Amino acid sequence: MKDRLCFYHNTVQAVGMCLHDHKPYCQACEVVTPLGKFCCFDCSGKYAAFKSTWKEPKLRSPWLGPMLAGAVLLLVLGAGAAWAGHRLLKISALEPFDVVTRFTR
Ligand SMILES: [Zn+2]
Ligand SMILES: [Zn+2]
Repeated sequence: MKDRLCFYHNTVQAVGMCLHDHKPYCQACEVVTPLGKFCCFDCSGKYAAFKSTWKEPKLRSPWLGPMLAGAVLLLVLGAGAAWAGHRLLKISALEPFDVVTRFTR
């Protein structure tokens, strides 16, 4: 960090750059946290909040799995019903829906 001055003390040489807003800071301003070094406590707090909210989108919606399983089950049941109605009960109106016969033919 040569020839960079502290963002808050424009006569003091900066010793590093804030991890949150990339402002240069001096020894007096430096805030050291387990996450990294910051120019002020405000930045370290904002960065910690950003880090914790950033992980959330990775969590899968709890209803997505059961919904997908339900959709697949409905499709299988529908195909089975169409096949049974078309092949066993000879309902010709069900022929376009009889995907089982169409794919096994
Ligand atoms: Zn400073
Ligand atoms: Zn900062």
